[in-house]
Amino acid sequence: MKPAPFDYVRARDRDEVLAHLHEAGDQARILAGGQSLVPMLSMRLAKPALLVDVMHVESLSRIEATEAGIRVGAGVRQARLLDWAVRDPRLPLLARALPWVGHAQTRNRGTVVGSIAHADPSAEQPLCLLTLGGTLQLRHRRKARSIPAAEFFVGMMATARGDTELIESVTFPAAQPGTGYAFREVGRRHGDFAIVACAAVATATGVRLGVGGVADIPTVRELPLPGASDFDDALNQYAWDLDARDDLHATARYRRELVRRLGRDTIEEALRCRN
Ligand SMILES: Cc1cc2nc3c(=O)[nH]c(=O)nc-3n(C[C@H](O)[C@H](O)[C@H](O)COP(=O)(O)OP(=O)(O)OC[C@H]3O[C@@H](n4cnc5c(N)ncnc54)[C@H](O)[C@@H]3O)c2cc1C
Repeated sequence: MKPAPFDYVRARDRDEVLAHLHEAGDQARILAGGQSLVPMLSMRLAKPALLVDVMHVESLSRIEATEAGIRVGAGVRQARLLDWAVRDPRLPLLARALPWVGHAQTRNRGTVVGSIAHADPSAEQPLCLLTLGGTLQLRHRRKARSIPAAEFFVGMMATARGDTELIESVTFPAAQPGTGYAFREVGRRHGDFAIVACAAVATATGVRLGVGGVADIPTVRELPLPGASDFDDALNQYAWDLDARDDLHATARYRRELVRRLGRDTIEEALRCRN
């Protein structure tokens, strides 16, 4: 199928993006890497009247270290952040997770922020942002706001972003001393979306386990350390609380079992990786 007709603008600066969003409201869509949006247009799952291309806005193409962590602009492609993360010890979780995102070809086009905006519940980057306790910087023509990832994902591919807001950047908190980070996933083939993905952050006193691919949104929960008498019960309860469902790719029972096994393995790896 071919997309429904639409207008296209290549924005030169952030204000131009915001002006178009303000004018067109829910008739406009931001075009980033196009790796999710273009297929949706072709299948007519999205029929915007206007696409606002943000990939030529210089101010959105930066990766910057701030007090809150590593801030990644809306125009930063996944391949660039992966290249950065493997050399920057402040981003160990992303260094482990980004190779699981699609293929080299899709990472060369797709953006980090585009994936987070798209909010697929199986996607790796929203899961990492949530598990690390990251934030999103959103901007409307007249005001800007920052919200925690924990408040951004509100339902199946639904987010707290308003129609006229640009996600200007996302901020991943930097790695902390004495903390370990690990990422694992199971998919049908490498490069496919995860059936279950787990991200773990571990310290000497406790662990945080993020799970993607099971509930409608990525989720995160604090758990006791493996070896504590209540660890198995807590992990099992988490697996049940995610309310897994059967679909074409896996049964609910298989997903729950993956949360228990992959969850434990990921946590143990994070504990071993503590710096
Ligand atoms: C073959 C294939 C395999 C893939 N496998 C995986 C995988 O394993 N894991 C995974 O996570 N993803 C996977 N993807 C998706 C890929 O990661 C996409 O790049 C990503 O989901 C969207 O990023 P994008 O920059 O291409 O965004 P686009 O497709 O351009 O946009 C996606 C959505 O986000 C909105 N948007 C984009 N940027 C902004 C912004 N700054 N502010 C507000 N809204 C914005 C757009 O309007 C659109 O609704 C795969 C894609 C393909 C084609």
